[in-house]
Amino acid sequence: MAKMMAGNRLKLASNSRPLLDLVSKRGIKTTSIQLENYRYRFAIAGGGSGGIAIAAKLAKKYGKGKVVIIEPSSTHYYQPLFTLVGGGLADLPECTNATDSLIPPDCTLLKDEVKEFQPKQNCLVTGDGHQVHYEYLVMATGIALNYDKVEGLTEALEYSDNVCTNYSPEYVRNTYYYMKNMTKGNALFTFPTPPIKCAGAPQKIMYLADAHWRNEGVRDNVNIQYYTALGVLFGVKKFADALNQICDERNLTRNYQRNLVKIDHVKKIATFEDLSSENRKREDSPYDFIHVTPPMGPQEAVKDSELADSNGYVDVDKHTLQHVRYPNVFGIGDCTNTPNGKTVAAVAAQLRALYKNLKASVAGTPLKPKYDGYAACPLVTGNSKLILAEFDYDNQPLETFPFDQSEERYSMYLMKKYFLPPLYWKSLLKGTWLGPKEVRKGFQAVKRQVEKVA
Ligand SMILES: Cc1cc2nc3c(=O)[nH]c(=O)nc-3n(C[C@H](O)[C@H](O)[C@H](O)COP(=O)(O)OP(=O)(O)OC[C@H]3O[C@@H](n4cnc5c(N)ncnc54)[C@H](O)[C@@H]3O)c2cc1C
Repeated sequence: MAKMMAGNRLKLASNSRPLLDLVSKRGIKTTSIQLENYRYRFAIAGGGSGGIAIAAKLAKKYGKGKVVIIEPSSTHYYQPLFTLVGGGLADLPECTNATDSLIPPDCTLLKDEVKEFQPKQNCLVTGDGHQVHYEYLVMATGIALNYDKVEGLTEALEYSDNVCTNYSPEYVRNTYYYMKNMTKGNALFTFPTPPIKCAGAPQKIMYLADAHWRNEGVRDNVNIQYYTALGVLFGVKKFADALNQICDERNLTRNYQRNLVKIDHVKKIATFEDLSSENRKREDSPYDFIHVTPPMGPQEAVKDSELADSNGYVDVDKHTLQHVRYPNVFGIGDCTNTPNGKTVAAVAAQLRALYKNLKASVAGTPLKPKYDGYAACPLVTGNSKLILAEFDYDNQPLETFPFDQSEERYSMYLMKKYFLPPLYWKSLLKGTWLGPKEVRKGFQAVKRQVEKVA
């Protein structure tokens, strides 16, 4: 099978199914592909951050040929660095690797998408029509970017030279180009109705743009406006207070409960709905530069499946990450309905609980470890400054370091730029980084000792 790529290059199809005729648009039969029935102990739907990480752990434990990752993309991105690419502080190749090169040894990559989930039959069907039968399924399909939910956004991103988004590798480089061209006028930054991945990213780029325009000496001519569908700047009060203070000091205007619904890139007008008004009153805002965070939602194949909750996300227990109706199905990352910040940091913390619970499930013992909702948001607040927000399900701070993380720090910026990317490529994707829980415990123990001595 040409589509079958593998760490071990082993094809484990148990039996073949009839040929599927591929027919051209004119109705002429062009080629046939053999439909396969694959059988694996563990099937991983989605080979992004969470999918590769859990596959690595399972393959290490259960050995060769037991784990298949179903993933259509040839390229894997370390998305947290997109913010620095948009801000002109990193370039796209630094965030990029070939998917093939990241597949853990002893895992098989099926380069295809999942079209249909059949959890009652322990089976899924791929876009090419192959069936994958599994004993355990891990859902790791991420969250979809829905540009079409904002009227005119797709055209504006394609055809204008002042509408950008850091959320896609296709457009992220434009952010810095457009920022450099901007010398005066209205600069808008938007945040849609949640959930979204990395809820800090919509404002991080505002701080970087502010810093850029200050360096260029044009900041006095630029009116910066932040439009958010939320009622607050950030969900965790401790960090929101610090961020609001920064916004006040730097003259960054916040507009709450305003949801972007339309962009007219010819007239350069953004239209927002006022979510606080009874009839969702519409307001037009002229712009000269706009960074848009697109609305997001579940992937189509997940939304339409029996695995979804009423909102379309994978319906798992928020502590064990086990599916609430199908006990041999688990979830990790942005695709589930757990109410944590959707981040790589959360993926790492979930990996710890997920792996232990999967092992318990295989062994037939009770599931124990609990994911506490840990997520982190490294809020870049300038060219070399960062507030490291870490928090749990209750939006309570869960800081790793023994200092006040709501203060802007150069050290934390260096960590984001130089330490976290290798940690991702070399440790998380190999299944060995399980979040900073142990580091936090270590710092707390040292702090207690120091306090005792003092
Ligand atoms: C601009 C930006 C800034 C960010 N900043 C940070 C940050 O500073 N810190 C942080 O921790 N996180 C950050 N994040 C968030 C982080 O990147 C995501 O939360 C994380 O990658 C989620 O991992 P995942 O495995 O759930 O999804 P992904 O890594 O997105 O992977 C999902 C995979 O599923 C595949 N897939 C989709 N549908 C199907 C299907 N039907 N069949 C098979 N495969 C499918 C996709 O191709 C994809 O490869 C940021 C994200 C962005 C975009």
